[in-house]
Amino acid sequence: MYYDCIIIGGGASALMLAARLDVRNMPGGGLIIEKTGKCGTKLLMSGGGRCNITHGGSIKDFVSCYGNSGPRLRKCLYRHSNMGLASWLEENGISLADEKGNPVYSWDLEDAGRVFPSSHKASDILNLFLEKAESNGWEIRKDTEVHSIHRRDDGWEIRVSPAAEITSRNVIVASGGITFPETGSDGSVFRILEDLEVSVTPPRSALAPVYPEDYPYEELSGITLEDVTVTVFQPGESRADSTAGRQTKDSGQQTASPAPGGHGKMAARMTGDLLFTHRGFSGPVILNISRYAEPGGTLSVSYGKAIENLPKRMQKVLESRSKGPSVDIRTSVLAGLLISDDFIISSVDDNGMVTAGGISLDEIDTSTMQLKRFPGLYAIGEAIDADGITGGYNLQMCWSTASAVADTLIHKQV
Ligand SMILES: Cc1cc2nc3c(=O)[nH]c(=O)nc-3n(C[C@H](O)[C@H](O)[C@H](O)COP(=O)(O)OP(=O)(O)OC[C@H]3O[C@@H](n4cnc5c(N)ncnc54)[C@H](O)[C@@H]3O)c2cc1C
Repeated sequence: MYYDCIIIGGGASALMLAARLDVRNMPGGGLIIEKTGKCGTKLLMSGGGRCNITHGGSIKDFVSCYGNSGPRLRKCLYRHSNMGLASWLEENGISLADEKGNPVYSWDLEDAGRVFPSSHKASDILNLFLEKAESNGWEIRKDTEVHSIHRRDDGWEIRVSPAAEITSRNVIVASGGITFPETGSDGSVFRILEDLEVSVTPPRSALAPVYPEDYPYEELSGITLEDVTVTVFQPGESRADSTAGRQTKDSGQQTASPAPGGHGKMAARMTGDLLFTHRGFSGPVILNISRYAEPGGTLSVSYGKAIENLPKRMQKVLESRSKGPSVDIRTSVLAGLLISDDFIISSVDDNGMVTAGGISLDEIDTSTMQLKRFPGLYAIGEAIDADGITGGYNLQMCWSTASAVADTLIHKQV
């Protein structure tokens, strides 16, 4: 079996590519190989089943939403923007809406915020992609897992189970990341690529709750504080130093300002809403900053304006943590906690909404998404070393990278 294009994975980015690329006129045609029995499982989970497909505003503002990877994706995002995605969806019968259900139009995305299909059903988006993939001539082989990829003179040889060898002129890696492995995205393709000596940044969970050591706020579970500033520091000097800083705070022997030198370099600072859970911190500001959180590092919360309106339950917990031999010391410890409530990071939840890390952008020409050292091999979506904040930026990145490949392969045919 010799194909013109094989896509590894049948998730959002694979289906976006298949929806954009007509393979009917290619002699070998196109094949999507999906490990599980279903395509687009994560797409169906997106936005709590409502599918926050992209975000409003200027595409220029998207660049800063993908950490250090953003500037490297600039060209790709500009060429295949949120407006491009929205107008393609409209042309194909999907009307759009904002979070509250107000209509949103591709030509007026400025203040749209999070953008959804107006039905608020991810299944409408999935069905459209599947229909377009079929009408574009793509074959989909489910329950088939890719085990290895080898270079040949005229393309690529792929071994799959159930046992078969398939060859293709072009191979597009769209195998996602490592979180929610039950959806099929288990990172197995990263190991296959490492065998080929493709550089892969170690993948880790992101857009995830962060769990600190000695979490004192279990009883506040379910409470959200608005506009809280969170700073994440890398693991720094010895952990004992950081812990000592906190212990002296608790015992009231010092003012509660952060222990100097108790943590490493600042990794990121963000402001937004914070949610207390049973085990740790969540909410948009935590999800967005989680990609920088490392076990042993420090997470510092500054409650900012939220201080003016702290829930009674929280005031009680803070008071109980502000121990000291005199009122002055207790007041000073409390003031310190409100400005900088420091925690050693124990872990980041394994099941983040996305994966940080993946196929190194150093390997990829981001205008075509082709791997520079491996002609005919491409990578798109969450499999690449780029991840966005919450708000539709991750599906937009799937669209932009998939469209870059579609344009390249259309051009290659000519
Ligand atoms: C709960 C949740 C909510 C989310 N909400 C949003 C949202 O509202 N907006 C947003 O922008 N993003 C959201 N995301 C992120 C977004 O869904 C993902 O970034 C996106 O689905 C990634 O698409 P992908 O095609 O790159 O990877 P995936 O969707 O993970 O697809 C990869 C596919 O590859 C297959 N595969 C893996 N290995 C192999 C192999 N060896 N052989 C064959 N097939 C293989 C897998 O089975 C899988 O089907 C959310 C994610 C989650 C988990």
